[in-house]
Amino acid sequence: MKLLITGGAGFIGSAVVRYIIGNTDAEVVNLDKLTYAGNLESLAEVSGSERYAFEQVDICNRAEVDRVLVQHQPDAIMHLAAESHVDRSIDGPAAFIETNIVGTYTLLEATRHYWQALEGERKTNFRFHHISTDEVYGDLEGTDDLFTETTPYAPSSPYSASKASSDHLVRAWQRTYGLPVLITNCSNNYGPYHFPEKLIPLVILNALEGKPLPIYGKGDQIRDWLYVADHARALYTVVTKGKPGETYNIGGHNEKQNIEVVHTLCDTLQELRPQAMPYRELITTVKDRPGHDKRYAIDASKIEKELGWVPQETFETGIRKTVQWCLDNLDWCQRVQDGSYQRERLGSGE
Ligand code: NAD
Repeated sequence: MKLLITGGAGFIGSAVVRYIIGNTDAEVVNLDKLTYAGNLESLAEVSGSERYAFEQVDICNRAEVDRVLVQHQPDAIMHLAAESHVDRSIDGPAAFIETNIVGTYTLLEATRHYWQALEGERKTNFRFHHISTDEVYGDLEGTDDLFTETTPYAPSSPYSASKASSDHLVRAWQRTYGLPVLITNCSNNYGPYHFPEKLIPLVILNALEGKPLPIYGKGDQIRDWLYVADHARALYTVVTKGKPGETYNIGGHNEKQNIEVVHTLCDTLQELRPQAMPYRELITTVKDRPGHDKRYAIDASKIEKELGWVPQETFETGIRKTVQWCLDNLDWCQRVQDGSYQRERLGSGE
């Protein structure tokens, strides 16, 4: 099996590439534009494999996407490429509209033409797997409600609205053209190789440097956290076993207030890298994000019942692994923070 993975140099995409090369016989073509969020250093352990190829391509570039499809002849596409950071979508929504909506449309059209030209089993077994977020559902008022696959869409930020739009496009390409699609909507991920603008790596690295740990408002926003390697395994399960036309929600059963997450990180750091002043004393509050969703929580029972996937990490084990990974890989973190991961690839002509 050959899989084309878009966004394979990003946080989740690189975990998917590492999982597939490390645990299956499948071949992987990683198609990535290498925006600020794309980092080939996250793929160092697999980039030497004969089953791995990289194409630096923008999903908005139809001619280049067509070329990659014809040249590599994938059996399935896993579409993760996106602009993914909510705060950046508030400061500058244009890139989110361009990549998440126009880029997904361009990829769908290129895929439709490629798929229509396939024959026999290759055509029947082809899959287009769109990777989306639970943020398309908006937020939950009550404390017991959960997002299911039939929860109506109510996105709040330019990011989640652009992802919701791309989900609608993918469903329309299935209903209208019969393209065999799968959609997954996942909760917040955390784990190794996470870009340090996101809450968990930001808190770990700031704490290690003795800098303030910023918390939006009261820190009472609730998110459902999933360890990234569990997500990668779920995505491979869906692309190989999922039923075309179906949506699967993916979550970790780990609903935590942001402040609880930061406390857990501080306490884990205190244990693994003890210091005289408790890390918790670095916590400071900052003005809340506009339109900030209060609570997300996923009902992941469908993927569990139908495809047999369950997360392997609890929040405690996953956080411990993540903190330990940061402590063991401070050079990776440092090179992202000082921008050298980007400067060197520009210097090498990539
Ligand atoms: P990320 O920002 O870390 O990585 C995105 C990747 O896409 C980068 O490698 C970037 O270079 C690439 N990319 C961006 N624009 C591109 C373009 N125009 N053409 C080709 N490549 C492009 O994102 P992530 O956190 O790994 O998220 C991956 C996917 O999973 C996204 O679709 C996101 O919406 C979804 N998702 C993320 C989370 C989360 O917690 N991070 C949760 C649920 C769903």
